[in-house]
Order: sequence, then C-alpha cells, then structure tokens
Amino acid sequence: MRRIDVITLFPEWVESLKGLGVTGRAMAQGTISLHCWNPRDFTEDVHRSVDDRPYGGGPGMVMRPEPLARCIEAVLAEDIAAPVSFLGPQGRVLDHDGVSELAGRARLILLCGRYEGVDERVLQTLVDEEWSIGDYVLSGGEPAAAVVMDAVIRQQPGVLGHEESALRDSFVGGRLDCPHYTRPASWRSRDVPEVLLSGDHARIERWRLAEALHRTRQQRPDLLARYPVSEVERAAAKK
Ligand code: SAM
Repeated sequence: MRRIDVITLFPEWVESLKGLGVTGRAMAQGTISLHCWNPRDFTEDVHRSVDDRPYGGGPGMVMRPEPLARCIEAVLAEDIAAPVSFLGPQGRVLDHDGVSELAGRARLILLCGRYEGVDERVLQTLVDEEWSIGDYVLSGGEPAAAVVMDAVIRQQPGVLGHEESALRDSFVGGRLDCPHYTRPASWRSRDVPEVLLSGDHARIERWRLAEALHRTRQQRPDLLARYPVSEVERAAAKK
C-alpha cells in the first residue's frame, strides 16, 4: 500500500495519525501518503451544507448525496483505481484476515459517515464495500477509519522497524501472542520466567510457542477450532 484517501467531515480526526507512533513514522518516511477530502469543499450552496432532514421524518440528519458524490468522484479521478470502502456498522466485521486483505491493496479509499448515515443512493452507486469495526454504533466513521489505518499500516513492510514483531502478533496463524516481560527480573514478588533469562534461544522459542498455544486455548478456543494445532507445533511445544 502506498496511498490512503479518507473522505471525512472531520479531517482533524484522521490527520492526527500523521504525527503519532507507527502511523506517523510510516507517513514521515514516505511509505504511505495520506490524503483527506472534505465533502464540505464540494458543496455549492452558501451555507456549505452537507446534511439534510430524512425523508419520512424521524430524528437526526442524513448526509446529502450531491456533495458526497462529487467528492468521491474527485477522489476516484486521482491516482490508481481502488474500491471505495464505506465504514459502517452494517458491513463485514474487520478481523485479521480483513486487515491483511486491505493491507495488500495499493490504495485504500475510506468513506466516513456521520449523523444518521449516508443517503442510500450514494452507497448503491459509488461505494464498493462496507467495513464495520464491531457490533456497536459510533458517532462517525472516523474512529473506524483510524482503526483500519493503524492496523493496515503496521502490516506494511519496513514500518515497524523489526519485522519479526508483526509475525508474532496475536491472530497471525490463528494464535494469540505469548506474554512479554522487561526489567527488573523480579517485581513486586513476581519473577520473570527463568527460561527467558537462560540465554538458550531454542528453549525460549519453545516456551513462547507453548505459552501462545496455552493462551489461545484459554482465551480464544474458537481460533484453535479454525486453525487446529499442527503436529509440528505440538511436538515443538512439548520439547
Ligand atoms: N443509523 C446508522 C445505523 O444504525 O446503521 C448508524 C449511523 S452512525 C451514528 C454514523 C456513522 O458512523 C455511520 O454512517 C458510519 O460511517 C459510522 N459508524 C458507526 N458505527 C460504526 C461501526 N461499528 N463501524 C464502522 N463505522 C461505523
């Protein structure tokens, strides 16, 4: 991935990722370029209105189709073609496989809704897919876009600086990560497992694998059902 476009009424929300941690580093080193687009800049009325009352009555407002459509069309006219991904609670729920799928694209176009949502006709004609970050409702798509961006950016080669850590992360290969410790070796009567101080790298690897399997079994048995323990893992963890 080299480019992310975010269509949002609150670009400040998303642009904060430019200065922070892993996402900030990826943008500073030029691995990813972030472009925010505000549908308000595509309005033609004096009030620059982006929302209107819902047909049929009821509470809240709905994002107007025309400014949004013009904004999406301007985004699509730039750079390489990419699907338009709407962030919404009714979409495919994001998980590790979904993040890997998005991370493999050359460009992401993320559309953030606000208010009661987006006029349905925009979703029908200009949106290719919908992604949810979970079964709950946010006030806007921006926090969801930030979640997608962070998860996708940390999967880009060279971004973490130590590639190994992304491979050990939870959900890679259907396993949770092993526990981590740092100094001091003894803290409030709790000691770091002796094996981690042994300097025996092969033993440490076996311990990590066994701990990862144990944690997965305890906390996410559903992952083991989907990604059964292989003979190689079973043997390695036993040694
Ligand atoms: N009335 C909509 C519904 O119940 O399906 C919810 C609208 S919500 C208040 C406003 C916007 O927040 C949505 O258009 C969507 O862009 C975003 N949003 C809310 N929940 C989300 C979720 N779980 N995942 C991704 N985006 C979400």
